Amino acid sequence: MVDINGKTRLIGLIGNPVEHTLSPVIHNGISKGLGVNSVYVPFKVESEGLADAVKGAYELNVLGMNVTVPHKNRVMESLLEIDEAAKQIGAVNTLVRMDGGYKGYNTDMLGLSRQIKEDGISLEGETVVILGAGGAAKAVVYMCLTEGAGKVYLLNRTFEKAEVIAKDMNTLQMGTVIVPMALEDYRQINEERLIVFQATSIGLAPHVEDVVLSDKEFYKKVKIGVDLIYNPANTRFMQLVTEAGGKAYNALKMLLYQGVIAYELWHDIHVPQDIVNDIYVELKRNVYPKDNIVLIGFMGSGKTTFGKALAEKQNMNFLDTDAFIEEQAGKPIAKIFEEDGEDYFRKLETEVLTRLRDTVTNTVFSTGGGMPLRTSNARLLKEIGRVYYLTAANQVIYERVKEDSNRPLLQCENPYERICMLMKERAPLYERAADVLVDTNSTDIEEVCGKIMEDYGTQHGNRVK
Ligand code: NDP
Repeated sequence: MVDINGKTRLIGLIGNPVEHTLSPVIHNGISKGLGVNSVYVPFKVESEGLADAVKGAYELNVLGMNVTVPHKNRVMESLLEIDEAAKQIGAVNTLVRMDGGYKGYNTDMLGLSRQIKEDGISLEGETVVILGAGGAAKAVVYMCLTEGAGKVYLLNRTFEKAEVIAKDMNTLQMGTVIVPMALEDYRQINEERLIVFQATSIGLAPHVEDVVLSDKEFYKKVKIGVDLIYNPANTRFMQLVTEAGGKAYNALKMLLYQGVIAYELWHDIHVPQDIVNDIYVELKRNVYPKDNIVLIGFMGSGKTTFGKALAEKQNMNFLDTDAFIEEQAGKPIAKIFEEDGEDYFRKLETEVLTRLRDTVTNTVFSTGGGMPLRTSNARLLKEIGRVYYLTAANQVIYERVKEDSNRPLLQCENPYERICMLMKERAPLYERAADVLVDTNSTDIEEVCGKIMEDYGTQHGNRVK
């Protein structure tokens, strides 16, 4: 969060409810990353107060607002201007300040469009199936029109809703044919290699086993499936797509990009991709929280000693990433470097971390001293769990490792100087990769583990034993 002062600009969200919104993670994260002096706050607004809220926001010099359920449609009555796409979709989720009022945009559609481009999906000339005909589905239909899809089948439980959307969108005559259909008529689609957008609310956690269409025959025709639901990360719909040989994606990036695009509109700036990637990691951590503990730091900072003690106290598993990589490669790290080269080792490291992220829970990780120095690894470690940087004075580190001949980095004339030099380079990178810094100058296991557990307890209260 930025330091609030007289120049701080307010951005925010109006909706009802707003308590579970992830948007503050996106917008406050970007402001922090860019050093922009704006703060994002959610506001619960009742339907009767919507017009007053928009007017009040303008009078309070609020820079911009997001709008969520149930106000995305009715908010249009309170705006000075509405972007053409938002007008056609009939929903506004972003208000951008202008002279005299706000202009409304629909960045949901733009966000999904940016996500699919990033995932290498083109709709040009394709046959698309959209499951659902609610607010989100309508934005997907419009995206298909703007991206030149050949034909769109719009399937809905309530046929009439699909029919209304198709009629509206077909009158735009943008070259894409929209065919409304009742959901149960899906067998009438004869085309193959379909791109399917799942835009119903079926399958959302905790109803993770539910799926809007369960017929495996249908999925044999699907080459790409995008589920607008992102929680769980791998929905039943996505599983059916991949089991039948297609590629499947959830739409967490849609959420990310609708926010990034809104932020760019409000502040008239471009958010660099490295900040976007950091925010994506934070979003994933919020949506799919992991219970692992990750210890990072220089050699001699106590990652193994304290890690093993922590694992025992907390009844968790212990995993040393270097040992794990050596086991996977079937040879020591020094030999991997020697025989396969550093590039190969880095690739292996990233592959291993990705696999561990997707599979391991309830574990204390002790990481190699060089591992968090690469930005991509640092991001993966944050996705694996809460990251603690074990710090110690250079002199303390030296005392701990000076007798150890298994430290190739320190096989030199003046190891203390080497430690000082390396720490000067590495400390800022360790700090950037960490959630929390833990002083380990004391070797008292109770004290160090206590500090970690105190913080971990605030994140995973019920898990502290
Ligand atoms: P709506 O409530 O407007 O629409 C819900 C849709 O789901 C309708 O088509 C409805 O059909 C269908 N549906 C609901 N229950 C059933 C059922 N039992 N059987 C068959 N169909 C059913 O929701 P939205 O369009 O706003 O959102 C749809 C999904 O997209 C949500 O899960 C939401 O979380 C997700 N979403 C994701 C975003 C992202 O950033 N990734 C952004 C926006 C939405 P019917 O018309 O017959 O009732």
